[in-house]
Amino acid sequence: MKIYISADLEGVTGATHWDETDKTKPDYQFFAQQMTKEVKAACEGAIKAGAKEIWIKDAHDTARNIYADELPTIVKLIRGWSEHPFSMVQGLDKTFDALLMIGYHSYGSSGSNPLSHTLSSKKINYLKLNGEIASEFLIYSYIAASMEIPVVFVSGDEGICLEARKHIPNIRTVAVNQGIGNSTISIHPKLALKRIEEEVNSVLKSNFQNCQIKLPEHFKVELSFKKHTLAYRSSFYPGMKQISPTELWFETNNYFDVLRMLLFVIL
Ligand SMILES: [Zn+2]
Repeated sequence: MKIYISADLEGVTGATHWDETDKTKPDYQFFAQQMTKEVKAACEGAIKAGAKEIWIKDAHDTARNIYADELPTIVKLIRGWSEHPFSMVQGLDKTFDALLMIGYHSYGSSGSNPLSHTLSSKKINYLKLNGEIASEFLIYSYIAASMEIPVVFVSGDEGICLEARKHIPNIRTVAVNQGIGNSTISIHPKLALKRIEEEVNSVLKSNFQNCQIKLPEHFKVELSFKKHTLAYRSSFYPGMKQISPTELWFETNNYFDVLRMLLFVIL
């Protein structure tokens, strides 16, 4: 069994303030450690279920957060950004049996995490896919869907876990934080590790093929920009339509076109 884990930080246990996600701030160290431990817990659950190869994408900010020497020796860690449109799931291909997500967070404009955002906290308020606000969970799950890879597990804030179960009813989730305004209520960081290991182990021992998400046939992307100046610039991307000073539309039948657009316009 070959497993792919995509790891972010804004949905790691206790993460509440941007300083805690920023390498240059003293508050950051504890959360980089906790991110590493949560990824390690997922690896241990997967290995006990029979995983022989695990790829991990460090997918937060610099993509240089995880302490590799604390992880099991069978892992391959992807650090930094290649700038491939697959971004947070760089290198995912049909040889993988399942996709897991650790430390994921609610979409931009959601009240379920003080750090909620979609792809960029600075550029856009939210992104809609076919009329519904989309999270990074959904954007990257659709890449898995394009290769019929099941998305079996997500940990993060309560909001993202709820969204994951809405799209993939059989997915396993561990909600580590509940966001209220600019605050969070978290479970104990060590309890989070125990639950992540148990749920990952349990789902990978089950018939997880029922964790597939269906890729839509048509994509209509709506982008709400924080600044009209950036929306104006982005309106020149091929195929983009401007519908207001801060809102753009993009339509296609090919999901890779959506990912390429997001790479050039948002990332
Ligand atoms: Zn992040």
